[in-house]
Amino acid sequence: MKIACTADELQLFTNIAKVAADTNTPCYIVGGFVRDKLLQRPTKDIDFVCLGSGIEMAHSVAHSLPGKIKVNFFKNFGTAQFRYHDFDIEFVGARKESYNRDSRKPIVEEGTLDDDQKRRDFTINAFAISLNKDDYGELIDPFNGLDDLANKIIRTPLDPDITFSDDPLRMMRCIRFATQLNFSIHPEAFEAIGRNKERIKIISYERITDELNKIILTSKPSVGFDLLYRSGLLEVFFPQLVALAGAEYIDGKGHKDNFYHTLQVLDNAANRSNDLWLRWAALLHDIGKPATKRFEKGHGWTFHGHDAVGERMTYKIFRQFKLPQNEKMKYVAKLVALHLRPISLTKEDITDSAMRRLLFDAGEDLEDLMILCESDITSKNKQKVTRYLDNFEAVRQRLKEVEEADRIRNWQPPIDGAEIMELFGLQPSREVGTLKTAIREAILDNIIPNTREAAYEFMLNTAAKMGLHPVK
Ligand code: ATP
Repeated sequence: MKIACTADELQLFTNIAKVAADTNTPCYIVGGFVRDKLLQRPTKDIDFVCLGSGIEMAHSVAHSLPGKIKVNFFKNFGTAQFRYHDFDIEFVGARKESYNRDSRKPIVEEGTLDDDQKRRDFTINAFAISLNKDDYGELIDPFNGLDDLANKIIRTPLDPDITFSDDPLRMMRCIRFATQLNFSIHPEAFEAIGRNKERIKIISYERITDELNKIILTSKPSVGFDLLYRSGLLEVFFPQLVALAGAEYIDGKGHKDNFYHTLQVLDNAANRSNDLWLRWAALLHDIGKPATKRFEKGHGWTFHGHDAVGERMTYKIFRQFKLPQNEKMKYVAKLVALHLRPISLTKEDITDSAMRRLLFDAGEDLEDLMILCESDITSKNKQKVTRYLDNFEAVRQRLKEVEEADRIRNWQPPIDGAEIMELFGLQPSREVGTLKTAIREAILDNIIPNTREAAYEFMLNTAAKMGLHPVK
């Protein structure tokens, strides 16, 4: 079995082989690098296992390479890592692992290469390539991972119930690899996920989110979410999303299955953008629907206010998933909050002020909002899809015209809160907010022109009606 290596990689492997021979420490390339090379996927992470101290080996190898290389090492884990050119290189001594039930932290002992391969999560992740004199370059594949690669199957090397129960994160990894590589999960492994799903609770949300983000960033994330849903795992760590599943019928009227609709929207967004946060917005855009679902006689199913409820849920979900509590979260919440607005602008007789209001509210995220809305079209009827897309194109055009005329997107009202407080001798208070909003709304609604003079006069009149007068 030959893998194609670059000159850089070959130089590295030759150096390691020499150090391995000189120090009498057998060494192997292992794991994801071998898998990705066999699949001809680009990869820059290279893991090595040696029969001896990984930390010492890493230092000796770093020393043998040109240039000064800083080695980071973790005594507790027996691992050492350094960067060489654009490679992330890691060394570890071969180990044997045993687990107890309450933790995914194993008890680790020194082991053989075979022990080390047995502790790997999947057959396609358990390859090793020898860097030793007797069998240099030979692929060691104890679990027939090559067949699984050829047949595109994810399978655990040992009993899947043990593999998943020992380290439940592997269930997420299993579904992530299936999605990323477009592989299927061996039926026994898939069933074992169902049996062990509750074990995911011992995994921190940071780690779950890492895997979830990798699924979201694939070219067809719905594959992963469907597997997460069907295995039962999703229900355990993301019940809000599962609550979207299913269609209810009253008086013969049903609504669409909002879970599968959401997955379609996510795939559509993935086709249009590689941005993780725009994809999160697609995932969460209808998250407020279950909480707002009503059946109204004469109207059928409604989800009034699901945009606002979804916005609030977004903040909670970001906290729960340990996602960044920063402008990324605000961006996702904003898109969720605004996702119905462009649709409302496709109706006839829409005024310029409605356009201006969306330009103001969406600001620099307008284009992403339009992408989300276009992704939200999931009708199977091709003619309908074309018509809706055309409608959005018309909205884009109108928005462009209004923006060119009024420059609203990065606009700030001509009078700010500080000035209002000073003029009327106010502390930060509701009145300041009321005045500020009144000025902004009057301009957006075209009641007054967008000038400082008009705003000033309007402010004085409005303040007088509230019983407020300038202090100087
Ligand atoms: P990716 O880089 O896409 O995450 P990878 O397979 O390289 O893929 P790493 O997390 O870098 O993933 O892990 C390297 C190798 O370590 C894996 O190929 C696998 O052999 C092993 N491994 C990683 N995590 C686990 C785990 N939770 N259980 C068992 N083996 C694991």
